[in-house]
Amino acid sequence: MKKLISVTLLLVCFSAAFAQTKPVLHPTRAHASMSPEAKALLEEAIGVVCTQAKLDPKSSVAIDEMQARPSLPLQSPEARSGSERAQRLLPVAKELVVNSLQQLSTEYRLQDSRSFNQRLRQAIARVNSVKRVRPDMESRDNASVYLSRPHVITFGTIFLAGLRSDEGMISVLAHELMHIADGDNDSLRALVAAVGNKASDLTGLAIHGQRGEEVTCDLVGAMAVRAYIVSTPGYESVARRLARSIQHNCVELDEGDEDHLSPRNTIRALLALNPSLVRELINDRF
Ligand SMILES: [Zn+2]
Repeated sequence: MKKLISVTLLLVCFSAAFAQTKPVLHPTRAHASMSPEAKALLEEAIGVVCTQAKLDPKSSVAIDEMQARPSLPLQSPEARSGSERAQRLLPVAKELVVNSLQQLSTEYRLQDSRSFNQRLRQAIARVNSVKRVRPDMESRDNASVYLSRPHVITFGTIFLAGLRSDEGMISVLAHELMHIADGDNDSLRALVAAVGNKASDLTGLAIHGQRGEEVTCDLVGAMAVRAYIVSTPGYESVARRLARSIQHNCVELDEGDEDHLSPRNTIRALLALNPSLVRELINDRF
């Protein structure tokens, strides 16, 4: 998942074809760390996520598996139902992203900065102005946002079909909406840097610049899904539903690049940032 420059500024997620380097911010901060016990619980939670990927009939297909699939026509039943799901959930995802952004700005103590609040208001307005999802066969397993057309999320048909649950779909919609919130000026860079720095400290991985933005987008996705689950209780286990927000990262071929952590390290970073998610994945399995 990344931002890239083409003729128009474009954000593409899940494609590793292009790279854009962005400035890295290192504000002064207290270093976070994880105890050996917390690390062990985190690995156990990853096990739950990727076991559910095999057991859950509505699990999200892993990114590497999606990449290997043949293109899927717009009119195929899977692409159509995915497209309907995405369009139906877009208003919910927008609301959840706005709430998550407000929650994160408090959590990362940015709520007292007047300039950040001003940027946050503009970011929220951009999220609220997103109108539709455009299914696209050529985009395959990617979702993307053209910042020249910020009201539309373009969604590859393979990706639409590979996200087989509302939870999986909300997490990717929220990820794209976070890119839109950040916009072409990186308006939320203070938040992105704070999240990236904390994730780096907790995992020992280098999560700055574009990697920090992608992890922040994924974090917003996971938070949105968690809030969605709370508001729509059902018969399925909480762990199964939570797992769907991150399990597209349960790949066999675990490769990252300059702008992206590898998928499995992405799960690691998200769970490190979100210990309540770890607890719920382990404790609410049944
Ligand atoms: Zn992305």
